[in-house]
Amino acid sequence: MQSTTLSIGDPIEARCTKCRKNTDHIIITLEEKAPAKVQCNTCTRKHKYRAPTVPKKTTTRQTAKPKDADRKEWESLQSEMDSAKAKTYSMTESYKLNALINHPSFGLGIVQRIIGSQKIEVLFEEGRKTMRCQ
Ligand SMILES: [Zn+2]
Repeated sequence: MQSTTLSIGDPIEARCTKCRKNTDHIIITLEEKAPAKVQCNTCTRKHKYRAPTVPKKTTTRQTAKPKDADRKEWESLQSEMDSAKAKTYSMTESYKLNALINHPSFGLGIVQRIIGSQKIEVLFEEGRKTMRCQ
């Protein structure tokens, strides 16, 4: 394909050692149709072509993954949730499995697990929460 053929003077993204980041470059020389020498548009330095580096993934995104799964599950269950049937959450109430709860801060939730006595696990839009009950 002609569009993939590089020519001298073409703009190309490359890693610049002086700028210490990926910047726009102009191809100065080509070797076997691959860029050999490039010039940085930012600092005007001429250097060997280096492929742009891929930015590292942030660790904060990785820790958010289990919550994403909860969110997806909540969204899939949302269509079956009838907010009119939801009970306003109260510590003095007793709840059954799959009961709908309306929590003043977390919103609509569904009881997913009865954890021993006086504790339930509720799936809210923002994740799973352990709640007290009677
Ligand atoms: Zn540069």
